[in-house]
Amino acid sequence: MSRFMSSRFDGLEAYVPGEQPQDMQYVKLNTNESPFPPSPAVLEAVNREETGRLNLYPDPEGKALRGRLAETYGVRPENVFLANGSDELLFFAFMAFCDQSRPAAFPNISYGFYPVYARLLGLPYTEIPLREGFVLNPKDYCGLGKTIFIANPNAPTGRAISVDSIEEIVRTNPDHVVLIDEAYIDFGGQSCLPLIKKYDNLLVCQTFSKFRSLAGGRLGFALASPGLIADLEKIKYSTNSYNINRLTMAAAIATLDSSEYYVENSRKIQANRAYTTEKLAELGFETLPSVTNFIFTRCPAVDGGTLYRELKARGVLVRHWDKAEISDWCRVTIGTREQMDIFLDRVREILKEVG
Ligand SMILES: *Cc1c(COP(=O)(O)O)cnc(C)c1O
Repeated sequence: MSRFMSSRFDGLEAYVPGEQPQDMQYVKLNTNESPFPPSPAVLEAVNREETGRLNLYPDPEGKALRGRLAETYGVRPENVFLANGSDELLFFAFMAFCDQSRPAAFPNISYGFYPVYARLLGLPYTEIPLREGFVLNPKDYCGLGKTIFIANPNAPTGRAISVDSIEEIVRTNPDHVVLIDEAYIDFGGQSCLPLIKKYDNLLVCQTFSKFRSLAGGRLGFALASPGLIADLEKIKYSTNSYNINRLTMAAAIATLDSSEYYVENSRKIQANRAYTTEKLAELGFETLPSVTNFIFTRCPAVDGGTLYRELKARGVLVRHWDKAEISDWCRVTIGTREQMDIFLDRVREILKEVG
């Protein structure tokens, strides 16, 4: 217990991010970053000229970037909210849309930040168990009467539900916000974005951290009805009005100008995902179907914790959780073909030793 910190945080367990070793000696398949660098246009946009303006605050409204995002997604700037990573966006959403009479609800196996934000803010919350095979049953959320947070596709399972299912959840909870966290939507999933024109309680969150190779730039955004965006703005201007820095805004605009580059990278990731899944199946692994840039996989011969440790000892980082329902499993980010071949070689070595 801390001598100076408010006792209301005594029970708070902070989110534990994936390891970020700074010496680059690992094949890093643990935090779902893109293995590909930002596009050449991004490197050019973050130049001496832009850096030379760092003495000035950035545009608090982020007008230029919001305009480009609105254009990209066929909405209006009033439908767009910018945040310092979708983590900040999620925090603002918990703050804005939950309270004692509007408890939060999310799956028991999902993004680890949801329960942390709920506890940080002292909010009541319910974790709704996924069904057999980590399948989310939309009926569990219909007419729930709570503020709902669903990652679609889900992390760390990689599974998605249909846009029709999402519509059913949004339609049957008209007095509550339904937040759909689409961090991984650009790896083969289908976005529910078109529904924001029909439903004023739907909040769609995306990020530049995965598909757009900009995890280090920290940029997330929400697409929703102008009312929900205004609510988020109120929280933002009460917290940190300059939440997006100049260099990130310049990088993000250049990113949106290079869409073919990123679509091509996503194609490569999806091909490597199929390749890795197939090779793992030959080694006896069970892998959940994934529409993301990672796979959730387990091996009958090695438990998840052992696999994680043995891979790390051999220079490959993957993610494992000591949580009963998923302790058999590891989440493996899909990288380049070369990275996946190193990963598969190390797995073969481990199986030879323990098998
Ligand atoms: C990675 C991730 C985020 C956070 O993304 P940032 O924009 O880097 O903060 C949010 N939600 C899910 C489900 C994620 O996997």
